Amino acid sequence: MLLKNSWSYTETGINNQEGVFLLAYKTINPYTNEVVKEYPTASASEIETTLKKGDKLYREWRKEPAANRAEMLHKIAALLRKNSEKLAKVLVIDMGKLINEARGEVELCAIIADYFADHGAEMLKPTSLSSKAGNAHVEKDSLGVLLMVEPWNFPYYQIMRVFAPNYMVGNPMILKHSSNTPSSAAAFEKVVNDAGAPAGSFTNLFLSHEQVTKVIADPRVQGVALTGSEQGGSVVAEAAGKYLKKSSMELGGNDAFVILNDADLDQVLKVAKRARAYNAGQVCTSSKRFIVADNLYDEFLKRLGEDFKQLKPGDPMNEKTTLAPLSTAAAKQKLQKQVDDAIAAGAKLYQGNHPIDLPGQFFEPTILTDITQDNPAYYEEMFGPVAQVYRVSSEEEAIKLASDSHYGLGGIVFAGDPKHGEEVASQIETGMVFVNTVLYTLPELPFGGIKRSGYGREMSSLGLNAFVNEKLIVSVDKPDLGNAAGALF
Ligand code: NAP
Repeated sequence: MLLKNSWSYTETGINNQEGVFLLAYKTINPYTNEVVKEYPTASASEIETTLKKGDKLYREWRKEPAANRAEMLHKIAALLRKNSEKLAKVLVIDMGKLINEARGEVELCAIIADYFADHGAEMLKPTSLSSKAGNAHVEKDSLGVLLMVEPWNFPYYQIMRVFAPNYMVGNPMILKHSSNTPSSAAAFEKVVNDAGAPAGSFTNLFLSHEQVTKVIADPRVQGVALTGSEQGGSVVAEAAGKYLKKSSMELGGNDAFVILNDADLDQVLKVAKRARAYNAGQVCTSSKRFIVADNLYDEFLKRLGEDFKQLKPGDPMNEKTTLAPLSTAAAKQKLQKQVDDAIAAGAKLYQGNHPIDLPGQFFEPTILTDITQDNPAYYEEMFGPVAQVYRVSSEEEAIKLASDSHYGLGGIVFAGDPKHGEEVASQIETGMVFVNTVLYTLPELPFGGIKRSGYGREMSSLGLNAFVNEKLIVSVDKPDLGNAAGALF
């Protein structure tokens, strides 16, 4: 929750400008607008108890091999699958996700847990180095307690990306989730506890922003992983810098979807709608900018428009609904302002932007064209079902436009020849590019970006190594204290 100037945090909530006490963490169903449940902010003693338990467990875990922890991750995966329906409903009520997409998110979490259970210990094995100094190897040690600060758009998956690898590493974790998805945070913690994970291994705390900084400053905490906006990321990264803690930042994106002049439009349109409207368009790697070769532009625009019209708003619990509400009233207001400002600055409204006659936080899928570089929309991330479509007359122009972003998270390229698509992908300034397919997130693939999309990677061996101590050990059979080059003392 963004704290307004005249508001102040207390131990358990917030005093607003009139001095009225509000609980900061609450589930408000974005389909019905009903306040479902409120949660008090963590107390100082809860934080201290959590840090103590986490630090104790870190020291215990150091004495045992990583492989010992694999079984617990498999148990967690099994419990996720067993309780999938119940867990999926929590997501629907917390932030409005379509029930089918919510089920998919639970399954993806189970896949990630199983993957790191199966491969984590192998990835953590020491690596030998050939060196004149002696027998050298690098061990991968745990670091200590970590804080993860997570967003509401994939409330379980974002946690799991940090949780599964770091559980294998042996870093106990504290979760600070979004103030609008507390029920998902509590549900994830319950799965971990029900599986029988040791006390302190994963604790959900409803922390205020101020408490986040205090936790980062604590000497028992050795790192912070944040996924969220660049604004939130920059505050947390500043605290991590101040207290010299390792950090990884997974921030926003303004991904390009490049359609080259020999692309097969039938294939393109199989993924274009999904690439923009999945999760109601609230994905960091949603394709926010379609960059289309001149010869395909008119047909693409027409067919994307037709596809967008097929999206049916309604109850996200109903399997037939294909357009979910946005997560909060504030998210809808922000997106509406961005669209209004874009149009006021000269963008053309091709389609959409009408109010939807339902009480929930719905936003009609919208297409904007003719966005010039001086339009505020050109560099902004629009977090909802709004597609920007650009016309380009050459491949060079497409690559230049795709890279002309303050962000650099993902991207998609469609080309007649996938090899050529890869060549184009190599030239785009971004963290991940998928050619002739939708963007995937799987545990074996590193996930992350550059520029204002943040730094570091989650998932794969890169993500697993984000918070390890790569400790060098060198030994010799007989000491040689000669004048070898490189000998320091
Ligand atoms: P957000 O406002 O930055 O919130 C993310 C998390 O950071 C929440 O837990 C939030 O807590 C916390 N936070 C925000 N400001 C903070 C501060 N000053 N001090 C401490 N904690 C703070 O982002 P969001 O709106 O929830 O998420 C949407 C953004 O996330 C989009 O930009 C999206 O692209 C990005 N995202 C990136 C990835 C990726 O992998 N790169 C994945 C998903 C989403 P409160 O709720 O209490 O403010």
